[in-house]
Amino acid sequence: MRRINPARFRVAKRGTTREINSQIVLNLVRTHQPISRADLARRMGVSRASITLLVNDLIGRKLVFEGSTGRAERGRRPTFLHIDAARRTVAAADIRATDTFLMLTDIVGRPISAVVSFPTVREPKALVATLAVRLHRLLADHGATTCEGLGVVVPGMVEQSTMRVLLAPTLGWKDVDIREPLAAATGLRVEVENSGRACALAQMWALGGSACLHGDLVFVSVSEGIGVGVVINGEVLRGRHNIAGEAGHVPLSLDGPRCSCGANGCWEAYISNRATLARYLGGSVHDHVQDAQARRFTVEDLIGRAREGDSKAMAAVLATARYLGLGLASVVNVFDPSCICIGGEIMLAWDLIEGAVRSALSERVLVAEAASTEIRPVLVGEHPRLQGAAALLSAPAFAAPVVA
Ligand SMILES: [Zn+2]
Repeated sequence: MRRINPARFRVAKRGTTREINSQIVLNLVRTHQPISRADLARRMGVSRASITLLVNDLIGRKLVFEGSTGRAERGRRPTFLHIDAARRTVAAADIRATDTFLMLTDIVGRPISAVVSFPTVREPKALVATLAVRLHRLLADHGATTCEGLGVVVPGMVEQSTMRVLLAPTLGWKDVDIREPLAAATGLRVEVENSGRACALAQMWALGGSACLHGDLVFVSVSEGIGVGVVINGEVLRGRHNIAGEAGHVPLSLDGPRCSCGANGCWEAYISNRATLARYLGGSVHDHVQDAQARRFTVEDLIGRAREGDSKAMAAVLATARYLGLGLASVVNVFDPSCICIGGEIMLAWDLIEGAVRSALSERVLVAEAASTEIRPVLVGEHPRLQGAAALLSAPAFAAPVVA
């Protein structure tokens, strides 16, 4: 179960409720820290005595700590509770077609190391070996003695129980297990997830209290491919074959450009970074991938040229914006979410493209109001995919289960 909705919870009253109530306490401390026992009791609608039992247990397990005393209107000064996040490290890895990125976070997902990267070796065994070496070095550099585990996001479909990568077209992977070998090589607990889904979960988790939280959320990750994660009622949509929500491979046109999945005209083939670059560099998507990589001409460079007045660069960026909006219209018509988060280099140009995206969206959404669906640009600097990878380890510990 990956149900991560920190706001929507009910206190469990019967049966095996203690662990569930503990998780609710833990999550409330995470989102409202520092927080007093009295405030916790008020938020959960339970007695101070029950809170004391739950909190003492969490303190005993070193999950929650007592900190400074606060002010009270009258009577005893309350002791505030917090989570000592710094002692608990989580490793995050983002495997992409071109490069692999690594970062360490604390248990609540805040970065505690710089991001390191290395070229992705597509042969899984070699990639696992390189990743393990790099991770050990990163952990050693940070003097991290204990690590809770390693979260890995991949640009492909992942089977939920085994975490095997069923298909990752941009990596050329079909039914690949990297979890077992990574666990063996690092000695850590390893969780693997599709990048779009992990991003959606991390956003849901991080946006505690914002408007995005009070409904359903879709995350669209635009990079070499398109990853889409859909969260409905605090739960990620998976489907029978782990492909639900893969809007990147919904066709915009049946005879459009060739996609990494082998079909023609997928949304991905119109808005991926390589599609945007091909539009500027000319030729087909695939002709120029190697060339662009060799020259390291990126979407950031393209946006830079557009801002400097290069009209061809601006036209390429705006064409991507239009296709982005047209695809988003399908996403809105299918899921009608409260909020769409979009990550990827193209969002560095959000101020330039929002108009074109919104206008394409409004052309195709079924009711006019849906054109104003909240869109939250997630900038590259926020490292949404690494945040997603870290959340695979940290979020479940804090998830507030909905108790029926
Ligand atoms: Zn496709």
